[in-house]
Amino acid sequence: MKTLKDLEVDGKRVFIRCDFNVPKDEFGNITDDRRIRSALQTIRYCIDRDCKIILASHYERPEPGKYEEKFSLIPVAKRLHSLLKIKRDIFMAEDVIGSDAQAKAEALGAGDVLLLENLRYEAGETANDESFAKQLADFADIYINDAFGACHRKHASIYAITKFFDAEHKAAGFLMAKEVNFFSKVLQNPVRPFVAVVGGSKVSGKLQALTNLITKVDKVIIGGGMAFTFLKAQGHEVGNSLVEDDLLEEANNIVKKAKALGVKFYLPVDVVAAAEFSENTTVKFLPVQEIPKGWMGLDIGPASSRLFREALNDAQTIMWNGPMGVYEMDRYSKGSMAMSNNIAQTHATTIVGGGDTADVVQRAGDAEEMTFISTGGGASLKLIEGDLLPGIEALK
Ligand code: AMP
Repeated sequence: MKTLKDLEVDGKRVFIRCDFNVPKDEFGNITDDRRIRSALQTIRYCIDRDCKIILASHYERPEPGKYEEKFSLIPVAKRLHSLLKIKRDIFMAEDVIGSDAQAKAEALGAGDVLLLENLRYEAGETANDESFAKQLADFADIYINDAFGACHRKHASIYAITKFFDAEHKAAGFLMAKEVNFFSKVLQNPVRPFVAVVGGSKVSGKLQALTNLITKVDKVIIGGGMAFTFLKAQGHEVGNSLVEDDLLEEANNIVKKAKALGVKFYLPVDVVAAAEFSENTTVKFLPVQEIPKGWMGLDIGPASSRLFREALNDAQTIMWNGPMGVYEMDRYSKGSMAMSNNIAQTHATTIVGGGDTADVVQRAGDAEEMTFISTGGGASLKLIEGDLLPGIEALK
Protein backbone atom coordinates (compact mmCIF):
# COMPACT_ATOMS: atom_id res chain seq x y z
CA MET A 1 0.00 0.00 0.00
CA LYS A 2 1.40 3.39 -1.05
CA THR A 3 1.53 6.02 1.65
CA LEU A 4 1.65 9.79 1.53
CA LYS A 5 5.45 9.65 1.74
CA ASP A 6 5.66 7.85 -1.62
CA LEU A 7 3.95 10.67 -3.51
CA GLU A 8 5.18 14.00 -4.87
CA VAL A 9 2.97 16.38 -2.93
CA ASP A 10 4.98 19.58 -2.61
CA GLY A 11 2.85 22.61 -3.31
CA LYS A 12 -0.03 20.49 -4.62
CA ARG A 13 -3.74 20.55 -3.81
CA VAL A 14 -4.29 17.60 -1.49
CA PHE A 15 -7.68 16.15 -0.53
CA ILE A 16 -7.45 14.27 2.77
CA ARG A 17 -10.38 12.05 3.77
CA CYS A 18 -10.30 11.99 7.58
CA ASP A 19 -12.51 10.35 10.17
CA PHE A 20 -13.50 13.19 12.46
CA ASN A 21 -16.58 11.36 13.77
CA VAL A 22 -15.79 12.21 17.41
CA PRO A 23 -18.13 11.78 20.39
CA LYS A 24 -19.78 14.88 21.89
CA ASP A 25 -21.67 15.44 25.13
CA GLU A 26 -25.16 16.89 25.49
CA PHE A 27 -23.71 20.43 25.33
CA GLY A 28 -21.96 19.75 22.03
CA ASN A 29 -18.48 19.56 23.57
CA ILE A 30 -16.08 17.07 22.02
CA THR A 31 -15.45 14.47 24.74
CA ASP A 32 -12.70 12.47 23.04
CA ASP A 33 -10.55 14.05 20.31
CA ARG A 34 -8.38 11.00 19.64
CA ARG A 35 -9.55 10.77 16.04
CA ILE A 36 -8.59 14.40 15.41
CA ARG A 37 -5.22 14.01 17.16
CA SER A 38 -4.52 10.88 15.15
CA ALA A 39 -4.88 12.81 11.88
CA LEU A 40 -2.32 15.49 12.83
CA GLN A 41 0.77 13.74 11.41
CA THR A 42 -0.70 13.55 7.94
CA ILE A 43 -2.00 17.11 8.02
CA ARG A 44 1.27 18.55 9.39
CA TYR A 45 3.27 16.71 6.75
CA CYS A 46 1.18 18.42 4.06
CA ILE A 47 1.36 21.85 5.73
CA ASP A 48 5.15 21.57 5.88
CA ARG A 49 5.23 20.83 2.16
CA ASP A 50 3.21 23.92 1.27
CA CYS A 51 0.22 21.93 0.09
CA LYS A 52 -3.23 23.43 -0.28
CA ILE A 53 -5.13 21.09 2.00
CA ILE A 54 -8.79 20.16 1.70
CA LEU A 55 -10.04 18.04 4.59
CA ALA A 56 -13.28 16.09 4.50
CA SER A 57 -15.11 13.85 6.96
CA HIS A 58 -18.53 12.53 7.74
CA TYR A 59 -20.13 13.25 11.10
CA GLU A 60 -22.81 10.92 12.47
CA ARG A 61 -25.93 10.44 10.34
CA PRO A 62 -27.67 13.66 9.30
CA GLU A 63 -30.57 13.61 6.91
CA PRO A 64 -29.04 14.50 3.51
CA GLY A 65 -29.86 18.02 2.39
CA LYS A 66 -30.68 19.20 5.92
CA TYR A 67 -27.88 21.31 7.40
CA GLU A 68 -28.58 20.79 11.13
CA GLU A 69 -26.12 22.51 13.45
CA LYS A 70 -25.59 19.45 15.65
CA PHE A 71 -24.04 17.62 12.69
CA SER A 72 -21.75 20.47 11.66
CA LEU A 73 -17.97 20.03 11.67
CA ILE A 74 -17.38 23.56 13.02
CA PRO A 75 -16.39 22.29 16.52
CA VAL A 76 -13.95 19.88 14.83
CA ALA A 77 -12.34 22.77 12.91
CA LYS A 78 -11.86 24.65 16.18
CA ARG A 79 -10.35 21.66 17.97
CA LEU A 80 -8.14 20.88 15.00
CA HIS A 81 -6.88 24.44 15.00
CA SER A 82 -5.89 24.30 18.66
CA LEU A 83 -4.27 20.87 18.28
CA LEU A 84 -2.26 21.91 15.22
CA LYS A 85 -0.89 24.89 17.19
CA ILE A 86 -0.64 27.02 14.08
CA LYS A 87 -1.23 30.76 13.96
CA ARG A 88 -3.06 30.86 10.65
CA ASP A 89 -6.79 30.14 10.53
CA ILE A 90 -8.37 26.91 9.44
CA PHE A 91 -10.99 27.74 6.84
CA MET A 92 -14.39 26.17 7.36
CA ALA A 93 -16.65 25.71 4.35
CA GLU A 94 -20.37 26.30 4.80
CA ASP A 95 -21.15 23.44 2.42
CA VAL A 96 -19.59 20.32 0.93
CA ILE A 97 -19.32 20.92 -2.81
CA GLY A 98 -21.31 24.16 -3.04
CA SER A 99 -20.24 27.67 -3.96
CA ASP A 100 -18.73 28.46 -0.54
CA ALA A 101 -16.53 25.36 -0.55
CA GLN A 102 -15.49 26.05 -4.16
CA ALA A 103 -14.60 29.68 -3.45
CA LYS A 104 -12.66 28.85 -0.29
CA ALA A 105 -10.79 26.01 -1.98
CA GLU A 106 -9.91 28.32 -4.86
CA ALA A 107 -8.53 30.92 -2.46
CA LEU A 108 -6.24 28.54 -0.54
CA GLY A 109 -2.60 29.55 -0.29
CA ALA A 110 0.45 27.38 0.41
CA GLY A 111 0.01 25.53 3.72
CA ASP A 112 -3.62 26.61 4.12
CA VAL A 113 -6.19 24.15 5.45
CA LEU A 114 -9.86 24.05 4.48
CA LEU A 115 -12.38 21.74 6.16
CA LEU A 116 -15.47 20.90 4.10
CA GLU A 117 -18.80 20.50 5.88
CA ASN A 118 -20.11 17.07 6.89
CA LEU A 119 -19.93 14.85 3.79
CA ARG A 120 -23.19 13.18 4.74
CA TYR A 121 -25.11 16.41 4.23
CA GLU A 122 -24.89 15.25 0.61
CA ALA A 123 -26.90 12.15 -0.35
CA GLY A 124 -24.18 11.16 -2.82
CA GLU A 125 -21.73 10.29 -0.04
CA THR A 126 -23.37 7.14 1.34
CA ALA A 127 -24.76 6.28 -2.11
CA ASN A 128 -21.17 6.11 -3.42
CA ASP A 129 -22.36 8.41 -6.19
CA GLU A 130 -19.82 8.95 -8.95
CA SER A 131 -20.76 12.47 -9.93
CA PHE A 132 -20.57 13.59 -6.30
CA ALA A 133 -17.21 11.81 -6.00
CA LYS A 134 -16.01 13.61 -9.15
CA GLN A 135 -16.94 16.97 -7.66
CA LEU A 136 -14.92 16.11 -4.54
CA ALA A 137 -12.02 14.89 -6.69
CA ASP A 138 -12.03 18.15 -8.64
CA PHE A 139 -10.89 19.96 -5.49
CA ALA A 140 -7.44 18.37 -5.64
CA ASP A 141 -4.46 16.87 -7.49
CA ILE A 142 -3.79 14.25 -4.82
CA TYR A 143 -6.14 12.01 -2.83
CA ILE A 144 -5.13 10.77 0.61
CA ASN A 145 -7.28 8.41 2.66
CA ASP A 146 -6.56 8.66 6.39
CA ALA A 147 -10.06 7.65 7.50
CA PHE A 148 -9.38 4.16 8.79
CA GLY A 149 -12.62 4.19 10.80
CA ALA A 150 -14.68 4.61 7.61
CA CYS A 151 -12.70 2.31 5.31
CA HIS A 152 -15.09 -0.62 5.60
CA ARG A 153 -17.75 1.47 3.84
CA LYS A 154 -18.14 1.88 0.09
CA HIS A 155 -18.90 5.58 0.25
CA ALA A 156 -18.13 8.24 -2.37
CA SER A 157 -15.24 9.92 -0.53
CA ILE A 158 -13.71 6.54 0.33
CA TYR A 159 -14.39 4.46 -2.76
CA ALA A 160 -15.82 6.14 -5.88
CA ILE A 161 -13.43 9.09 -5.59
CA THR A 162 -10.34 6.89 -6.06
CA LYS A 163 -11.31 6.34 -9.73
CA PHE A 164 -10.36 9.89 -10.51
CA PHE A 165 -6.74 9.59 -9.33
CA ASP A 166 -4.06 7.35 -10.81
CA ALA A 167 -1.54 5.39 -8.73
CA GLU A 168 0.87 8.33 -8.53
CA HIS A 169 -1.81 10.58 -7.11
CA LYS A 170 -3.51 8.55 -4.37
CA ALA A 171 -2.26 6.93 -1.19
CA ALA A 172 -2.96 6.11 2.44
CA GLY A 173 -2.29 8.68 5.13
CA PHE A 174 -0.01 7.90 8.07
CA LEU A 175 -2.81 6.94 10.47
CA MET A 176 -4.32 4.53 7.98
CA ALA A 177 -0.96 2.91 7.27
CA LYS A 178 -0.29 2.53 11.02
CA GLU A 179 -3.68 0.94 11.70
CA VAL A 180 -3.48 -1.53 8.83
CA ASN A 181 0.15 -2.49 9.49
CA PHE A 182 -0.51 -3.04 13.16
CA PHE A 183 -3.46 -5.34 12.68
CA SER A 184 -1.94 -7.30 9.84
CA LYS A 185 1.39 -7.73 11.66
CA VAL A 186 -0.30 -8.95 14.80
CA LEU A 187 -2.75 -11.23 13.03
CA GLN A 188 -0.17 -12.73 10.70
CA ASN A 189 2.76 -13.04 13.00
CA PRO A 190 1.85 -12.61 16.68
CA VAL A 191 4.32 -13.14 19.48
CA ARG A 192 2.80 -15.97 21.53
CA PRO A 193 0.93 -16.63 23.72
CA PHE A 194 -1.64 -14.56 21.83
CA VAL A 195 -4.85 -13.92 23.78
CA ALA A 196 -8.08 -12.49 22.36
CA VAL A 197 -10.47 -10.82 24.79
CA VAL A 198 -13.90 -10.44 23.23
CA GLY A 199 -16.92 -8.80 24.83
CA GLY A 200 -19.77 -6.50 23.92
CA SER A 201 -23.42 -7.10 23.45
CA LYS A 202 -24.01 -9.91 21.01
CA VAL A 203 -22.34 -12.96 19.51
CA SER A 204 -23.88 -12.14 16.12
CA GLY A 205 -21.90 -8.90 15.77
CA LYS A 206 -18.61 -10.71 16.33
CA LEU A 207 -19.29 -14.22 15.10
CA GLN A 208 -17.07 -13.95 12.05
CA ALA A 209 -14.31 -12.26 14.05
CA LEU A 210 -14.45 -15.03 16.68
CA THR A 211 -14.42 -17.75 14.05
CA ASN A 212 -11.32 -16.24 12.44
CA LEU A 213 -9.58 -15.43 15.73
CA ILE A 214 -9.96 -19.00 17.00
CA THR A 215 -7.57 -20.15 14.27
CA LYS A 216 -4.90 -17.63 15.26
CA VAL A 217 -4.88 -17.28 19.04
CA ASP A 218 -3.78 -19.43 21.98
CA LYS A 219 -6.55 -18.33 24.34
CA VAL A 220 -9.95 -16.68 24.03
CA ILE A 221 -11.60 -14.85 26.90
CA ILE A 222 -15.29 -14.06 26.52
CA GLY A 223 -17.19 -11.46 28.54
CA GLY A 224 -20.07 -9.03 28.11
CA GLY A 225 -23.57 -9.88 26.94
CA MET A 226 -22.28 -12.40 24.42
CA ALA A 227 -21.03 -14.68 27.21
CA PHE A 228 -24.63 -15.62 28.04
CA THR A 229 -25.23 -17.25 24.67
CA PHE A 230 -22.19 -19.44 25.34
CA LEU A 231 -23.27 -20.14 28.93
CA LYS A 232 -26.81 -21.06 27.87
CA ALA A 233 -25.41 -23.27 25.10
CA GLN A 234 -23.54 -25.13 27.85
CA GLY A 235 -26.76 -25.72 29.74
CA HIS A 236 -26.71 -22.90 32.30
CA GLU A 237 -29.85 -21.04 33.36
CA VAL A 238 -29.16 -17.43 32.36
CA GLY A 239 -32.53 -15.88 33.29
CA ASN A 240 -33.27 -12.73 31.31
CA SER A 241 -29.66 -12.11 30.32
CA LEU A 242 -28.98 -11.12 26.73
CA VAL A 243 -29.12 -14.35 24.71
CA GLU A 244 -29.29 -15.13 21.02
CA ASP A 245 -31.18 -18.41 20.95
CA ASP A 246 -30.61 -18.90 17.24
CA LEU A 247 -26.86 -18.94 17.83
CA LEU A 248 -26.65 -21.55 20.60
CA GLU A 249 -25.45 -24.24 18.22
CA GLU A 250 -23.00 -21.85 16.58
CA ALA A 251 -21.64 -20.95 20.03
CA ASN A 252 -21.08 -24.62 20.82
CA ASN A 253 -19.36 -25.08 17.47
CA ILE A 254 -16.92 -22.31 18.31
CA VAL A 255 -16.13 -23.94 21.67
CA LYS A 256 -15.68 -27.32 19.96
CA LYS A 257 -13.45 -25.82 17.32
CA ALA A 258 -11.35 -24.14 20.00
CA LYS A 259 -10.95 -27.46 21.78
CA ALA A 260 -9.96 -29.24 18.57
CA LEU A 261 -7.33 -26.57 17.87
CA GLY A 262 -5.98 -26.66 21.43
CA VAL A 263 -7.13 -23.08 22.06
CA LYS A 264 -8.02 -22.41 25.71
CA PHE A 265 -11.51 -20.97 26.06
CA TYR A 266 -12.53 -18.89 29.10
CA LEU A 267 -16.05 -17.87 30.08
CA PRO A 268 -17.13 -15.87 33.14
CA VAL A 269 -17.57 -17.95 36.30
CA ASP A 270 -19.61 -15.33 38.13
CA VAL A 271 -21.74 -12.33 37.26
CA VAL A 272 -23.21 -9.14 38.63
CA ALA A 273 -26.92 -9.79 38.21
CA ALA A 274 -29.91 -7.48 38.53
CA ALA A 275 -33.66 -7.96 38.33
CA GLU A 276 -33.98 -5.13 35.81
CA PHE A 277 -31.82 -3.25 33.30
CA SER A 278 -31.17 -0.33 35.63
CA GLU A 279 -28.64 1.03 38.11
CA ASN A 280 -31.27 1.75 40.72
CA THR A 281 -32.07 -1.77 41.65
CA THR A 282 -30.77 -4.56 43.87
CA VAL A 283 -27.76 -6.37 42.46
CA LYS A 284 -26.34 -9.75 43.39
CA PHE A 285 -22.91 -11.24 42.86
CA LEU A 286 -23.61 -14.80 41.77
CA PRO A 287 -21.81 -17.82 40.33
CA VAL A 288 -23.08 -18.43 36.78
CA GLN A 289 -24.70 -21.63 38.05
CA GLU A 290 -27.02 -19.58 40.28
CA ILE A 291 -28.61 -16.89 38.11
CA PRO A 292 -32.28 -16.87 39.19
CA LYS A 293 -35.08 -16.92 36.62
CA GLY A 294 -36.03 -13.36 35.66
CA TRP A 295 -32.61 -11.90 36.58
CA MET A 296 -30.00 -10.74 34.13
CA GLY A 297 -26.22 -10.67 34.14
CA LEU A 298 -24.98 -7.15 33.45
CA ASP A 299 -21.28 -7.48 34.27
CA ILE A 300 -18.72 -10.17 34.96
CA GLY A 301 -18.13 -10.76 38.66
CA PRO A 302 -14.92 -10.40 40.71
CA ALA A 303 -14.01 -14.09 40.46
CA SER A 304 -14.13 -13.86 36.67
CA SER A 305 -11.90 -10.80 36.74
CA ARG A 306 -9.34 -12.75 38.81
CA LEU A 307 -9.61 -15.80 36.57
CA PHE A 308 -9.13 -13.67 33.45
CA ARG A 309 -6.13 -11.95 35.06
CA GLU A 310 -4.52 -15.35 35.59
CA ALA A 311 -5.23 -16.30 31.99
CA LEU A 312 -3.63 -13.07 30.78
CA ASN A 313 -0.51 -13.42 32.94
CA ASP A 314 1.73 -15.13 30.39
CA ALA A 315 0.33 -13.33 27.32
CA GLN A 316 2.79 -11.71 24.90
CA THR A 317 0.09 -10.31 22.61
CA ILE A 318 -3.43 -9.29 23.66
CA MET A 319 -6.20 -8.10 21.37
CA TRP A 320 -9.25 -6.68 23.14
CA ASN A 321 -12.59 -5.81 21.55
CA GLY A 322 -15.80 -5.28 23.52
CA PRO A 323 -16.60 -4.36 27.15
CA MET A 324 -17.15 -7.00 29.84
CA GLY A 325 -20.47 -5.52 30.96
CA VAL A 326 -22.84 -2.59 30.64
CA TYR A 327 -19.96 -0.25 31.45
CA GLU A 328 -22.03 2.86 30.66
CA MET A 329 -23.69 2.35 34.08
CA ASP A 330 -21.18 2.73 36.92
CA ARG A 331 -22.55 -0.25 38.79
CA TYR A 332 -21.81 -2.60 35.92
CA SER A 333 -18.51 -1.06 34.85
CA LYS A 334 -16.15 -2.77 37.31
CA GLY A 335 -15.55 -5.86 35.18
CA SER A 336 -14.55 -3.74 32.20
CA MET A 337 -12.37 -1.45 34.34
CA ALA A 338 -10.65 -4.48 35.92
CA MET A 339 -10.08 -5.96 32.47
CA SER A 340 -8.52 -2.70 31.30
CA ASN A 341 -6.25 -2.59 34.37
CA ASN A 342 -5.31 -6.26 33.98
CA ILE A 343 -4.39 -5.85 30.32
CA ALA A 344 -2.49 -2.62 30.99
CA GLN A 345 -0.42 -4.32 33.69
CA THR A 346 0.82 -7.15 31.47
CA HIS A 347 4.06 -6.88 29.52
CA ALA A 348 2.28 -7.92 26.35
CA THR A 349 1.76 -5.97 23.15
CA THR A 350 -1.78 -4.76 23.67
CA ILE A 351 -4.19 -3.77 20.91
CA VAL A 352 -7.55 -2.26 21.73
CA GLY A 353 -10.27 -2.04 19.08
CA GLY A 354 -13.78 -0.65 19.12
CA GLY A 355 -15.16 2.69 20.26
CA ASP A 356 -16.67 1.34 23.48
CA THR A 357 -13.52 -0.50 24.45
CA ALA A 358 -11.36 2.55 23.75
CA ASP A 359 -13.77 4.51 25.94
CA VAL A 360 -13.39 1.98 28.78
CA VAL A 361 -9.59 2.20 28.56
CA GLN A 362 -9.79 5.99 28.60
CA ARG A 363 -12.08 6.03 31.65
CA ALA A 364 -9.88 3.49 33.43
CA GLY A 365 -6.89 5.80 32.89
CA ASP A 366 -5.01 3.10 30.99
CA ALA A 367 -4.81 4.71 27.53
CA GLU A 368 -1.09 5.48 27.86
CA GLU A 369 -0.34 1.92 28.93
CA MET A 370 -1.78 0.26 25.83
CA THR A 371 0.47 -0.35 22.85
CA PHE A 372 -2.14 0.63 20.31
CA ILE A 373 -5.72 1.86 20.43
CA SER A 374 -7.45 1.63 17.08
CA THR A 375 -9.55 4.59 15.95
CA GLY A 376 -11.90 2.38 13.93
CA GLY A 377 -14.24 -0.09 15.63
CA GLY A 378 -16.09 -1.53 12.63
CA ALA A 379 -13.06 -1.36 10.36
CA SER A 380 -10.76 -3.10 12.84
CA LEU A 381 -13.37 -5.82 13.33
CA LYS A 382 -13.45 -6.36 9.57
CA LEU A 383 -9.67 -6.76 9.54
CA ILE A 384 -9.92 -9.30 12.37
CA GLU A 385 -12.61 -11.11 10.38
CA GLY A 386 -10.06 -11.40 7.59
CA ASP A 387 -12.03 -9.13 5.24
CA LEU A 388 -10.57 -6.73 2.72
CA LEU A 389 -11.57 -3.14 3.37
CA PRO A 390 -13.03 -1.36 0.30
CA GLY A 391 -11.19 1.86 1.13
CA ILE A 392 -7.85 0.08 1.19
CA GLU A 393 -8.52 -2.03 -1.88
CA ALA A 394 -9.42 1.13 -3.80
CA LEU A 395 -5.96 2.58 -3.12
CA LYS A 396 -4.13 -0.40 -4.59
P1 AMP B 1 -20.71 -4.06 21.03
O1 AMP B 1 -21.15 -2.85 20.25
O2 AMP B 1 -21.25 -5.33 20.51
O3 AMP B 1 -19.21 -4.08 21.24
O4 AMP B 1 -21.36 -3.92 22.45
C1 AMP B 1 -21.10 -2.88 23.35
C2 AMP B 1 -22.27 -2.81 24.27
O5 AMP B 1 -22.45 -4.04 24.91
C3 AMP B 1 -22.13 -1.77 25.37
O6 AMP B 1 -23.02 -0.73 25.10
C4 AMP B 1 -22.52 -2.53 26.62
O7 AMP B 1 -23.44 -1.83 27.42
C5 AMP B 1 -23.18 -3.79 26.08
N1 AMP B 1 -23.09 -4.91 27.03
C6 AMP B 1 -21.99 -5.42 27.59
N2 AMP B 1 -22.30 -6.40 28.46
C7 AMP B 1 -23.64 -6.53 28.45
C8 AMP B 1 -24.56 -7.37 29.14
N3 AMP B 1 -24.15 -8.27 30.02
N4 AMP B 1 -25.87 -7.23 28.88
C9 AMP B 1 -26.29 -6.30 27.98
N5 AMP B 1 -25.47 -5.48 27.30
C10 AMP B 1 -24.16 -5.60 27.52
